[in-house]
Amino acid sequence: MLLELKSRLQVESCEEYLSRLYEKIEKSQLNGFTTLAKESALEQAKEFDKNHGKGLLAGVPIAIKECISTNGIETNCSSKILRGYIPPYDAHVIERLKAEGAIIMGKTNMDEFAMGSSTETSCFGPTKNPWDRSCVPGGSSGGSAAVVAGGEAPCALGSDTGGSVRCPASFCGIVGLKPTYGLVSRYGLVAYANSLEQIGPLTHTVEDTALLMEVIAGHDERDSTSARGQNCSYLSGLKNGVAGLKIGIPKEYFGEGVNRDVEKAVWQAIHKLEALGASWQEVSLPHTRYALAAYYVIAMSEASSNLARFDGLRYGLREGEDKDWHTTFSAIRAQGFGPEVKRRIILGTYALSAGYYGRYYLKALQVRTLIKEDFLRAFKEVDILASPTMPIPAFRIGERINDPLSLYMADVFTVPINLAGVPAVSVPCGFAGRLPIGLQLMGPHFGEATVLSAASAFEAATPFHEAVPEVI
Ligand code: GLN
Repeated sequence: MLLELKSRLQVESCEEYLSRLYEKIEKSQLNGFTTLAKESALEQAKEFDKNHGKGLLAGVPIAIKECISTNGIETNCSSKILRGYIPPYDAHVIERLKAEGAIIMGKTNMDEFAMGSSTETSCFGPTKNPWDRSCVPGGSSGGSAAVVAGGEAPCALGSDTGGSVRCPASFCGIVGLKPTYGLVSRYGLVAYANSLEQIGPLTHTVEDTALLMEVIAGHDERDSTSARGQNCSYLSGLKNGVAGLKIGIPKEYFGEGVNRDVEKAVWQAIHKLEALGASWQEVSLPHTRYALAAYYVIAMSEASSNLARFDGLRYGLREGEDKDWHTTFSAIRAQGFGPEVKRRIILGTYALSAGYYGRYYLKALQVRTLIKEDFLRAFKEVDILASPTMPIPAFRIGERINDPLSLYMADVFTVPINLAGVPAVSVPCGFAGRLPIGLQLMGPHFGEATVLSAASAFEAATPFHEAVPEVI
């Protein structure tokens, strides 16, 4: 699609194409974009029309999640506490996109500080699902997914700490990849839980995701967890097919709690892969049932430490008069953070406090190791794993927001992947009524090429990625 778009840009002007996108955005009811970089984007488009710049993404517009730093464009994590903050530098991924000629269209809505699965905790209000505007688009990269699915941007970047790229990709019927931990630099990504998160693409096709990965993956010295020596070529092996591929079906990812339409669509997808030449066998990831508890203890603990820097003194919101440090700091944070962020800071601080540290945080780290070992064991037997991305299709706006536990439960199949650090992609595999369903394909560390070529074979044999939402 993006490659097609590039050839289209040769005939029709990039400026015209981009203007049409902005017209659509300005009339949109999705609330997917938060900040637009219209002027600079149109300028770059004109420049492209004149000189037809070089680069893998020359002239390709892209939408960026609010938590990825963009030089000169507000980056506020959809939080009141960061409103007005304009970074003086670009995140590594933005540098890479610009170097390949991409055009940054603007920033997209998200759950505040990426804490959520529905994009309802944003200070800008919820984003709507383009397939049914009464439903959530998933989260936390809900804005990025909705603008791509709704035809307002050809591709986007999101971040995935516990499912935030894959969940909205699944709910909005597009492709989303969470890369192996360390493959994409986190330099310039506002941290929620550093040991878990990666930036990943949201696109219409697997090929587009592979293309974006070629641009954003690779070593960066400014991220101490950045991997070295990876061969970041994803497009070339994309048409390898699945003949001879061994697929593991984790038995803990099916059954109780999984919506019937979802389960049916995912099994049909597995049978489709089998018809294309793959084989499947049941495998067990026995520690799955502890994954949610371990994830939320670790994520909240890291969040409580990471978010301590938002004191309103150096950047973002400045509330009330200057009194003593404690009063000023409390007033700023009480005003600036929403209820979900406060809940997590309080719980995370509790889990890290003396006396509870060993009982909660250390225990969660031990469970994390067991979960990682589950995956390593499974990948000795099979090449990839397949499961639903989400146990349910998109739910209604407002339905779960007052019941945090039921929101956390929806992440049951996405968080283990972040705990283990392995890659996983969500590809459209069917519908429950008018709402899309996602198939999750998981691979071993740095197994992106295998996962993407399996996803591409599935996509080529099915029509789901071609469906376009009627209600936009
Ligand atoms: N829903 C999960 C959470 O709230 C995942 C969010 C994410 O990946 N950023 O922590």
